[in-house]
Amino acid sequence: MNKTVQQERAPQTAVSVTELERRLAEIFRAHGKQLYLVGGSVRAVLLGQPHEDTDMATDATPEEIKRLAQLAHPDGIYTVGEKFGTIGLIFGTHRIEITTFRSEWYTERSRKPDVRFGVSLEEDLSRRDFTINAIAQDPLTGELFDPFGGVEDLRAGIIRAVGNPDERFREDPLRLLRAIRFAVQLGFRIEPRTREAIKLNAAQLATISRERIRAEFEKILLAPKPSIGIRMLVDLGLMQYIIPEILLLRTKAPEGWHHKDIYEHTLGVLDNTPPDLIIRWAALLHDIAKPQTMTLSPDGEVQFLGHEFLGEKMARDILRRLKADSRTIERVAHLVRIHLRANAYTSEWTDGAVRRLMREAGEDLEALFALSRADITSHNPPRVQAAYARLDELRRRTEELEAQASVAKLSSPLDGHDLMRIFGRGPGPWIGRVKDYLLGLVLDGVLAPDDRERAEQLAREFLAREEGQAASGEQAGQADAAHPQRKEEQQP
Ligand code: ATP
Ligand code: MG
Repeated sequence: MNKTVQQERAPQTAVSVTELERRLAEIFRAHGKQLYLVGGSVRAVLLGQPHEDTDMATDATPEEIKRLAQLAHPDGIYTVGEKFGTIGLIFGTHRIEITTFRSEWYTERSRKPDVRFGVSLEEDLSRRDFTINAIAQDPLTGELFDPFGGVEDLRAGIIRAVGNPDERFREDPLRLLRAIRFAVQLGFRIEPRTREAIKLNAAQLATISRERIRAEFEKILLAPKPSIGIRMLVDLGLMQYIIPEILLLRTKAPEGWHHKDIYEHTLGVLDNTPPDLIIRWAALLHDIAKPQTMTLSPDGEVQFLGHEFLGEKMARDILRRLKADSRTIERVAHLVRIHLRANAYTSEWTDGAVRRLMREAGEDLEALFALSRADITSHNPPRVQAAYARLDELRRRTEELEAQASVAKLSSPLDGHDLMRIFGRGPGPWIGRVKDYLLGLVLDGVLAPDDRERAEQLAREFLAREEGQAASGEQAGQADAAHPQRKEEQQP
């Protein structure tokens, strides 16, 4: 089945990842070089989880890595990270990144963007961010090198900076976000001294590029329970350097105004969504303009008039600031604008109203359904059930209308022009008869709407049957003389 295809195209996938890692280590060792597993792949193995990519560290220089790696016959080599000492290897669908031991990790803010290579594994590990990321493993013997107690922290579920946390965060403030990202991805807690150092150095985040910040933030958004990460960012003082607007969601309403807490509601919606980046962004930002639009109606109800429109604009500004790509920006802003539409549905809606929603949502209809479902956070079970039932009914109606619309669009695979050309005849009632016949077959499901070849054959048989053996030929040869206005045309 799939296997053979894959084997033909990418023979390396037939070999297990562990086998590849060993083979590389053997080659390196035979040439007097060390090669260790490090980073996420060691973590994953120790946690008994599968890992996608492999990170390895070596005392070989990038030039030597390239030369030695060739001996393992990778399907490809990439060198984008070469000036940081990293050479990437592709084996089928698997990537292995091999990095020369470093004596420092961070370069973004330094004036001279050069990397100092280190001399030993121990030194390399000491420059890594967290103890759970500073474990190395010999792929040949399985032996672990764990100078900072990473294995114990992994077991206990603790994120702890290697060495002095304060210094580590000052060296590279992106680590502030990485700490939270790992905590929320793995369900770990942050050790108190590391936590304090994060608070202390929060403002340093302002010096980090928006792209790097967004990349880490999006990993937090995609975590199993993203609200934990958002709360940490808020509580540790990092959020104001990422999306300060989130902090305003905690704005309390004036005395006597009753409504649910916008911040808590937002986090609840976020956790309710499937792990899809667009939907998660939309969930995070859907009520972002509520604090700014909060008013009290004459009959004493709290309302947020137009918050979806102001929210759309704010979402766009926020995502632009974080240098998201334009498609992401547009889709998220669009979802924020329409986020109330589906939950406003009632059975009284006409087909026209449902169609309008479908057009407005366009390709984001599925995402809108997911967001709308997640947005139902009432604690009153009958109310929740009723809201789900309304959404289900709306979905059913959109599906029906979709099906009707595509039925209405069905037509004969061959139009009048085709038939005149194929049969070399001019216009006439025969065209309508053939087209009706072919459309009938399409509606019956025995002819595919795009199967022109078979349609032609069926049309020939039909005409032959209709006209008996005698080739009447009454209009043969006159096709080109046909007057354009009189041609039959029914194509959409
Ligand atoms: P994943 O690949 O699952 O995101 P990872 O731990 O492999 O997790 P990477 O960003 O791939 O993370 O980095 C690989 C390793 O490189 C890390 O485990 C860590 O040891 C080291 N590392 C990466 N970025 C930094 C940094 N900014 N400061 C210090 N060490 C870092
Ligand atoms: Mg990795």
